[in-house]
This record gives sequence, C-alpha cells and structure tokens, in this order.
Amino acid sequence: MIRELRVTKIATRMNPKWNGQFSCFDLVAKTDERPRSVVRVGDIEIGGNDFVVMAGPCAVESESQLLQTAVAVADAGARILRGGAYKPRSSPYSFQGLGVEGLKILRKAREETGLAIITEVMSEEDVEVIAEYTDIMQVGTRSMENYALLEALGRCGRPVLLKRGMTATLEELLRSAQVVAMAGNPRIILCERGIRTFETATRNTLDIAAVPVLKTVSHLPVIVDPSHAAGIRSLVPTLSRAAVVVGADGLLVEVHPCPEQALSDGDQSLSFGEFRCMMADLQPYLDLQHPDLQQNEQQFRPQLLAVGGAD
Ligand code: PEP
Ligand code: MN
Repeated sequence: MIRELRVTKIATRMNPKWNGQFSCFDLVAKTDERPRSVVRVGDIEIGGNDFVVMAGPCAVESESQLLQTAVAVADAGARILRGGAYKPRSSPYSFQGLGVEGLKILRKAREETGLAIITEVMSEEDVEVIAEYTDIMQVGTRSMENYALLEALGRCGRPVLLKRGMTATLEELLRSAQVVAMAGNPRIILCERGIRTFETATRNTLDIAAVPVLKTVSHLPVIVDPSHAAGIRSLVPTLSRAAVVVGADGLLVEVHPCPEQALSDGDQSLSFGEFRCMMADLQPYLDLQHPDLQQNEQQFRPQLLAVGGAD
C-alpha cells in the first residue's frame, strides 16, 4: 500500500496540469534522470526501439489450438504468445479456463516455438504457480485494484503487464503500478484496453490519448489491446495502426484458429490470415516511427511526447 506520498522531480517538459497529478507516484513517474524504462524478457525488449506484438487466443482451449496458434503468430512476427489459463468471465456459466493444464500447454508452446509467454493471474494464491510457467504475469482489467494481488506480484520476480481497469482513470492505473513497484518489482508494462463509456457500438472505448499521456508522465512501457477495446474483429487492424502512430510500445491481440468456434471472445479474435495481413499492414507505419529513419534520435518518440497536451 502507499504509505506516504512521495513527490519527485519530474521531467521538465511535462504539462503542469499533469505534474502535480502524477508526480507522487515516484517509482513509475518519468523524470529527467529516468525518461524511459525497458522491460526485458529473454532477448525481447519492451519499451525499447522494437514494437513488440503479443498474440494468441483469449483462452487456452487445447494443445492443438494453442500450438497451431503459436506457430502462426510467430510466423507473422509476434514475439510473445498470449493465452488465458485462468479466465475472469463476465458470466459464472462461461468457460473458466483449463487452470494448471493450460499452463502446461503454454509451456509446451514456448518449448516448441521459442515464443515468450504471457498469461493472466487473477488471485494472489495463484501467483507462485503461474510464475513457474510464464514469462509475463498479466493483471486483467477486473483486478487492477486488487492490492493483495499487486503486492504479491511485487514479490514474484516476473514482469507484470498491468491492464487499465475498465472504469479506472490513468491516475488510478499509475497508482496500481506504484503499488507493484513499491512491493519490489519495477518490471511493469502498462496496457490500455478500452474503458467503459456511454458508447455501445464497440465493447469498450479505446482511449487512444492514454498512450501519449502515459508515455509523457511515466517511464513505463505502454502497449495497447485493440481486441478488448473493440470487441469486433474488423476494427482490430485499424486500432492497431492507431496504436503504432501514437507511440505505443506494442500490442496484445487475440488470434484463434477458428474464431467462430472460440470458447471465449471469438467475435474480437482474428483468424491466422487476418493477423498476418494486419502485421504486414502495420509495417510501413512502424518504419515511419523507427529511430534509424530519423536524423536525430531525439526527434523520434520524445518529439511526440513533448507535446504535453493542452490545458
Ligand atoms: C483477456 O486479455 O483475455 C482479458 C480478460 O482482458 P481484460 O482483463 O482486458 O478484459
Ligand atoms: Mn479475451
């Protein structure tokens, strides 16, 4: 828990409005000394100059479903395989995940493809067992303020992907990140996955501005989950392109061998072909962002971040 407010010296280019709002989260706030942090998973660098794509099914359903998906997403350029073994479902009657069986399948997929693994942890009691199998611990939108879980993750020694709560402000997201960091784990990746608004045409509303705001006020890497934001497969490539353009460090995307038959989130899952096309379509936008193409690296993302927002 946050026992005292720590006020830190923040980056000079920060919009003054955000200065007081975020600077108390000193372990995650951006400062001139710490403008950006990179979370390393094996040879993958999240928050560095690579755009890291994490892809796979919503839930691990079977060995063949996951292995087929792992091969397909790796072929298309994903570096990390996602798949839920413990599923937080809106209905108690829906598929709840395969549990440890699912973790074993994820481990097998890692052995066969070399992909790193990300999977969700819902309860503090599961932290130890899930940490044995996975490379990144995912905190879902419904758990963002589960402080017992966040503190246990602070002690677990694995990187944490912290999803924004569906009704959480960015300040609340960073407060939760600070809890993980204060409990001893600085390896945190933030994830914008859409928030609840009055709009009903999409499952959630992708708060695209969250990316440049978070990247301005925090040194942590920020990725976008376009699948849960949209809820509709056809919107996922467009939202992914938006994520690249606003300076996200990567994506978390749902992909399934046969989305129509998925046990969860089929409507928002891409087929293998759709995922391959999306990855190819993103390339020109990624090339435009790449620092090698800039004459002066300082002009790359910092240029975007320096905008700082209007009052
Ligand atoms: C998921 O990634 O499958 C998931 C349940 O996401 P969220 O917590 O964002 O709803
Ligand atoms: Mn899902």
